[in-house]
Amino acid sequence: MEKKTVLTKHGFGSQHWVGDGFPVRNLFPSNGVADEINPFLMLDYAGPTHFPPSDQPRGVEEHPHRGFETVTIAYQGSVDHRDSAGNAGTIHPGDVQWMTAASGVVHEEKHGREFTAAGGTFEMVQLWVNLPAAVKMTPPRYQGITSAEIPSVELADGAVARVIAGELNGAQGPAKTFTPITLVDLRLAAGSRMTLQLPAGQNFGVVLLRGAVSVQGELLRGAAQIALLSQAGQTLELAAEIESFVLLLGGEPINEPVASYGPFVMNTHDEIRQAVADYRAGRMGRLS
Ligand code: MN
Repeated sequence: MEKKTVLTKHGFGSQHWVGDGFPVRNLFPSNGVADEINPFLMLDYAGPTHFPPSDQPRGVEEHPHRGFETVTIAYQGSVDHRDSAGNAGTIHPGDVQWMTAASGVVHEEKHGREFTAAGGTFEMVQLWVNLPAAVKMTPPRYQGITSAEIPSVELADGAVARVIAGELNGAQGPAKTFTPITLVDLRLAAGSRMTLQLPAGQNFGVVLLRGAVSVQGELLRGAAQIALLSQAGQTLELAAEIESFVLLLGGEPINEPVASYGPFVMNTHDEIRQAVADYRAGRMGRLS
């Protein structure tokens, strides 16, 4: 079967704080990667960072989103979320929150109360997934996916894949998506080698959170690195030199214009102006 090829490799393009709780390295678009990873819009990798015990949860205060989805994957520590659509919950290690902002949501994202009080190591990913124009203005949706709901697939040599969205080795991820998406959390033991079967026709990125992994023979080493793969081909060979944490993302590209401004991602500038006006007028709701 034809192999996917590595197109390019990149490090993170910027490093900054989101609110006072999330010290992130941005994997894209700050490094110039955008079209090649369509339909994904942004990936921030927070941590691992130690936070001392505190009585004041750190994080991001009330802010809006419209036109896309935010996907939060917890590795260490926890996040408390509440939004104007009435959804609230705590994302614990292993859990994934898949929030479809669509026509608009106002939310806050804070370190969990217990984590804040105890302190500890915090490690999280936030991924933004674009929506097709036809569903950008539909009602918001919320999927709080617990670790127990995510199927684990045992791969070779002690490697484990947790399938969040799409399919791998016959396991189907629980996340409902609007376009075909593959999202897999890979935990690779030192020395593990494997060949994965992936769909053709999706843009793929192999994100190394930390560790050292060869991707089709090309080495990614360190932290916050990404290898972009060809849409063509169906097989991917990974070999971990040391214990490695990898996020595999794939998606069928959405071939529509993108107009983005901060937390709003639409198709035209007029729609962006409308989003700003709607948010200011309270039409995306408020937190109570
Ligand atoms: Mn947000």
